[in-house]
Amino acid sequence: MTNSIHLLDKLNRPLRDLRISVTDKCNFRCTYCMPAEIFGPDYPFLKREQLLSFEEVERIARIFSENFGIKKIRLTGGEPLMRKDLPVLISKLSEIHGIEEIAMTTNGSLLPRYAEQLRDAGLKRVTVSLDSLNDELFGKMNGRGVTVDTVLAGIDAAARAGLGVKINMVVQKGVNESEIVPMASFFKEKGHIIRFIEFMDVGNTNQWNLDSVYPKKQIIEDINRAMPIEPIDPNYEGEVATRYRYVGSHEEIGVISSVTDAFCSSCNRARLSAEGQLYTCLFASRGHDLKTPLRSGLSDKEMQSIVENIWSNRHDRYSEERDELTNSSAVKKKVEMSHIGG
Ligand code: SAM
Ligand code: SF4
Ligand code: SF4
Repeated sequence: MTNSIHLLDKLNRPLRDLRISVTDKCNFRCTYCMPAEIFGPDYPFLKREQLLSFEEVERIARIFSENFGIKKIRLTGGEPLMRKDLPVLISKLSEIHGIEEIAMTTNGSLLPRYAEQLRDAGLKRVTVSLDSLNDELFGKMNGRGVTVDTVLAGIDAAARAGLGVKINMVVQKGVNESEIVPMASFFKEKGHIIRFIEFMDVGNTNQWNLDSVYPKKQIIEDINRAMPIEPIDPNYEGEVATRYRYVGSHEEIGVISSVTDAFCSSCNRARLSAEGQLYTCLFASRGHDLKTPLRSGLSDKEMQSIVENIWSNRHDRYSEERDELTNSSAVKKKVEMSHIGG
């Protein structure tokens, strides 16, 4: 067992969490993430040779685990299940000494086909995104007319396979706030934790503006009016969701309020894109290239010092500075959500 370094950035935040995007492609076109008008047939998605190979992803994950004590990995995308042979990558990652948990965020549509293989490979939990229980609205929001039942079948397949399941719902004002209470009640009944996410200004393509954010405060009020809830403590330091429990029960919900109640001061996540760029913030303009050094034959020790250098110089706090940044005349070019996976 190697001694891992407790790496701190410029604002004293540790590196705890690694999210790995395995593809920038997706079979959905959610309007808030990959609007179909922009992500059309001619969109220049990454070519196969631009993607990190499974061996390269495994090596980076090993370097993070051995040197910086990373214990959890989350796979994301694009839609991670669009990456061919994903269970093969999961088995490789699950063999890394020190990695205790592998999770995945998915739109759920391909889970009926893959849930058991994913579990056998070592996946422990999935977060499935679903924004509405209303077919017409959900079909519009996912931009492909995918039905609610398709995603519910994925959720059930994951639960049957023994995977832990959570649900993510992005709330957009004027679009799906009427679905907050029905979704809360449906998943309370089903026994899956649901997390409501404020619509964020990730990337440059989703037409975000502050008026389209349905704030955390309002989400809590809506649910509390229908089914009384009370706040509960975070599970661990740096947890992004604020947790609440239905009064008199153990069922809980979470709210992720990146816009109205930013949590940059405890942000401990690094994000690796499918082409091997390391991002230290969801709203960064650029990543740090790890693929070139990896392919140029650097040793693990040299790779470790590159990552150390990146993290120890990090000072991102976009959400805390959002007002100044969005009002400034220099419009910031940001990475797209489908590139780094949320
Ligand atoms: N395709 C997978 C999925 O949808 O779960 C994984 C990638 S997706 C980019 C990861 C998460 O980001 C999803 O839960 C999605 O709803 C959320 N997301 C995407 N765009 C967002 C935005 N503009 N604001 C808030 N959340 C967003
Ligand atoms: Fe695809 Fe997920 Fe983005 Fe929707 S949120 S377009 S499912 S990557
Ligand atoms: Fe972390 Fe950047 Fe989000 Fe702040 S804005 S919580 S630094 S990802």
